[in-house]
Amino acid sequence: MKNDCIFCAIAAGEIPSFKVYEDDLVLAYLDINPFTKGHTLVIPKAHSAGLLDTGDDVLAAVVARVKKVAAHLKAALPCDGFNILQNNGEAAGQTVKHIHFHIIPRYAGEPLTFESKPGDMAELAALADRISG
Ligand code: AMP
Ligand code: ZN
Repeated sequence: MKNDCIFCAIAAGEIPSFKVYEDDLVLAYLDINPFTKGHTLVIPKAHSAGLLDTGDDVLAAVVARVKKVAAHLKAALPCDGFNILQNNGEAAGQTVKHIHFHIIPRYAGEPLTFESKPGDMAELAALADRISG
């Protein structure tokens, strides 16, 4: 665990999150500034900064979980498609230096934008309950 890392604190349960999936290695939770309804982040619990700092075994396991969570979101929301986004470095828009994969659900007829909006906390809580339940 890295001391000043907000995603390590979430993985350790020190900061609350709108959890949608968890196992020994990985945690998935709703993004608090979603691009779309159900925007989810998937992280390894162990800290590494980005793709190039993460071991192949951890990456393989995390990507397998990204697939599992995406399948679950597609069925539970339901959504019509989804984007996977993984930013590396400030120039690429990475704001949290703990590797994470974005799953961005897409809905037919909605514009394909990559703009975030502050989420409504009550709505996020209800959505996380519905998706994880
Ligand atoms: P990135 O720009 O790829 O580094 O994405 C970081 C994402 O983390 C952003 O979309 C933020 O909205 C999201 N984020 C930051 N803090 C939290 C938090 N406490 N819980 C959930 N998502 C967060
Ligand atoms: Zn971390």
